[in-house]
Amino acid sequence: MKRRKFIEKSTLTMTALSLSNGLFQPRLFAMNQKTKITPVAVATWNFQNATKKAGEMLYNGATALDAVEQGVRVEESNLKNTTVGNGGAPDRDGNVTLDACIMNPEGNAGSVVYLQHIEHPVSVARKVMEETPHVMLAGEGALQFAIQQGFKKQDLLTPESEEAWKEWLKDRNYKPIINIEKHDTIGMLCLDENGDMAGACTTSGLAYKMNGRVGDSPIIGAGLFVDNEIGGATATGMGEAVMKSVGSFLVVELMRQGKTPQQACEEAVMRTIKKDPKYKDFQVGFIAMNKQGEIGSYCIHKGFSYAKFYKGESTDTPSDSYLK
Ligand code: ASP
Repeated sequence: MKRRKFIEKSTLTMTALSLSNGLFQPRLFAMNQKTKITPVAVATWNFQNATKKAGEMLYNGATALDAVEQGVRVEESNLKNTTVGNGGAPDRDGNVTLDACIMNPEGNAGSVVYLQHIEHPVSVARKVMEETPHVMLAGEGALQFAIQQGFKKQDLLTPESEEAWKEWLKDRNYKPIINIEKHDTIGMLCLDENGDMAGACTTSGLAYKMNGRVGDSPIIGAGLFVDNEIGGATATGMGEAVMKSVGSFLVVELMRQGKTPQQACEEAVMRTIKKDPKYKDFQVGFIAMNKQGEIGSYCIHKGFSYAKFYKGESTDTPSDSYLK
């Protein structure tokens, strides 16, 4: 029986029992009433359009899973955003290849990597989670699956992204830019009114990466991890560095050990720094939320922030950083 149904049922049973005894016990009745949680939507960077979309859904009773999916889709469709979805910067051979994953409160996960020609990789990832016996599909197989599921095949390379890529080809200098466009991968965590948490992460990866490169964002535990008993975390920045410490899983495990979301993000960033002497050359940022809706964030270089939607208010909060 679903938790909600069970609680509603037990409330009714308790009321009926109390009345039939001739003893109406209002305190007992109140204890059995379902407690609604105040929902929260939080995302990496100043993606307030995405958190607003997800947050409004949550306040209208949507599940955390539906909210994260629909929330990050806003950025997947945003053609001005060259770091996520349609309009994303291509690899060095001119291919737009997308990575995304999603996790539900039951701990199930779906992921797609190196997916081309599909505007909403997060929704394909959800289909992988819900319609296949697998967690991750890659490349051509992921594309075939998406088409079978009714997704439309389209060209995702915008004229602007193509022009920027052709410019890059002139000297082919591969140097990932820190805080590109003041945003990057979108990772989102939502807590719904039932107190359940889900997460999603979606990206076009690093601009001008090698053909075939996959970053941290679709890797469960690296770019995203949600444990509905504890909370969730998601990452942005240099995927190669995040993967080495399985960053988002690390943040959630640190929260499990009793750290606040803020302390957990700080420790995970410090781990990354300790393991890589070249940390000044790249950005890594984490956000985390625990089951109480408390949020933390930390990054290497300043400039990272997180968007939040809470009680009708949309905000952007600068993250504390290791390098000031
Ligand atoms: N983490 C992403 C990747 O490595 C990119 C980013 O967030 O900057 O693909």
